Amino acid sequence: MDTEQKLSVLGNAAKYDICASTAAPNKRPADQNYIGSNAAAGICHSYTPDGRCVSLLKVLMTNSCKNNCKYCVNRASNDFERSSFEPEELAQLFMELYRRNYLEGIFLTSGVQKSTAYTMERMIQTLEILRFKYNYRGYAHLKALPHAPANLIERGAQLADRMSVNLESPNPDRLKLIAGEKNFMLDLVEPINVIQKQISKGLLRSGQTTQFVVGAAGETDAELLRTTSWLYKKKNMKRVYFSAFIPTGDTPMSEARPVPLLREHRLYQADWLMRFYYYSIDDMVLQKDQNLSLEIDPKMAYALKNYETFPLEVNSAPFKFLLKVPGIGPTAARRIYRARKDNRLTSLNELKNMGVVVKRAKPFILLNGRAQGNIRNIMTVKQLELFCSSTARPAYLDEPLLLT
Ligand code: SF4
Repeated sequence: MDTEQKLSVLGNAAKYDICASTAAPNKRPADQNYIGSNAAAGICHSYTPDGRCVSLLKVLMTNSCKNNCKYCVNRASNDFERSSFEPEELAQLFMELYRRNYLEGIFLTSGVQKSTAYTMERMIQTLEILRFKYNYRGYAHLKALPHAPANLIERGAQLADRMSVNLESPNPDRLKLIAGEKNFMLDLVEPINVIQKQISKGLLRSGQTTQFVVGAAGETDAELLRTTSWLYKKKNMKRVYFSAFIPTGDTPMSEARPVPLLREHRLYQADWLMRFYYYSIDDMVLQKDQNLSLEIDPKMAYALKNYETFPLEVNSAPFKFLLKVPGIGPTAARRIYRARKDNRLTSLNELKNMGVVVKRAKPFILLNGRAQGNIRNIMTVKQLELFCSSTARPAYLDEPLLLT
């Protein structure tokens, strides 16, 4: 196989790894003796028709793997052509594409060929060639393979901007069902701990990320979100990615069905609420099956479930409560907070100009004492049955103001 063919095979095989966010820090600015910079431009993104990010040279070192994770096309039992890059070959290929301006960074991942240590050595060698032979100082994301030894993670952290370990499942029991060879704590959480230590030393300025295969092990959204919340709070995870499981014809899971992309979307919405809107895991409204509703988004579900706490007066509601109003995001909430210091807000037009999605927000707000809509008018009969049993006043209404 020539290099171009390898790129086609190993680039395509890497498409299941998600790497959409960048956050390249101001760490290695441009310099005439070096090539590239991860400071000014960060990473640009483009998306494939199925919505996956392909902005970096996202490629596998090898698609050979000794493991047999059921959900993975690269598993050992899958009968297809295997291929590998040599470290120098991959580094050279990357630099050719980089110089032609085709890409702005590299995301290097891999199957486990022979052993984790063997494969990670080769991945690290590739980055070393890029950094020290070609003086490349742009963005690099290095995957830590399951059971990655601490010394290799430490070396990787000296070279990369970001590292990641794919948890795939939210807990040990679920992981056992789809990846019997992996130990959740030893093989996956332990490398996350080692990466966290490197970040605390000032390395890996773009942090670490992880990914779940949603629905492969029959896990619920409640399980996924609990672990996600734990990762953000305890492991300082920069991002958690969700990838809806889509079995192929030869996936060895007879019961497996494709997971709707809308489920993946709802999980991202819930994740967003936890990271930027001050929602806790307990604020997530789950259905009887412990999943988020596919019909309405998690923010609207929260507002409908807690309808008795609305409408909120836009001119006096604390910042944190404004964020609970559907149609008001962090930017609009900040603008409202600043504007009302000078003048009372009296019209929906003013809110619209501040970025509020007025149509969504209307039933949940008072504007200068006047109601703008009726929550019950937007609830379907099904939603009334589901949400109207809740009468408790949420604790957050009695908490002190968080932001000024
Ligand atoms: S270890 Fe990684 S590449 Fe290998 S089968 Fe499992 S998920 Fe696939």
